[in-house]
Amino acid sequence: MNPFTEKALAMLEKRGVTLSDIVDCVYYLQKPYHQNLQHKDLEESVLKVLDKREVWHALMTAIELDVLAEQDRFSNKELEKIVQMDEGLYGMDEVLAYGICNLYGSIAMTNFGFIDKTKFGIVGKLNEEGKKQGICHTFLDDMVGAIAAAAASRFAHR
Ligand code: MG
Repeated sequence: MNPFTEKALAMLEKRGVTLSDIVDCVYYLQKPYHQNLQHKDLEESVLKVLDKREVWHALMTAIELDVLAEQDRFSNKELEKIVQMDEGLYGMDEVLAYGICNLYGSIAMTNFGFIDKTKFGIVGKLNEEGKKQGICHTFLDDMVGAIAAAAASRFAHR
């Protein structure tokens, strides 16, 4: 396994997200377009997305910001509050996620919008958990949605 993939999977796991959770999201996005689609067919696409340096950098940035927010360690307290509250009009969490989608074209972008709206599976779970005291998933839910959307787009193009 590529070193970025290994590090990304470990970091995601530490934040409560498994490879199988992401594959479930890709399956949800691709199921309407393929007969006899299997989860194992999609796993490779997720791993290939996680291979990328750009994805690793986005993921590190996203998780670091969530963790700093959980620990009240932002130097800018106004921004800290926005991130902790996952304020709907903030939008920078989505912008960081677009960085991943942009690597896989317009289908990744549409898929991301769809899963962000429907909050399927782990995306919804992270969003709900993030509302609890001391837990911040403001950036992570969008990262997971974007990785799944990118993997679905990659799969669709093959
Ligand atoms: Mg978010």
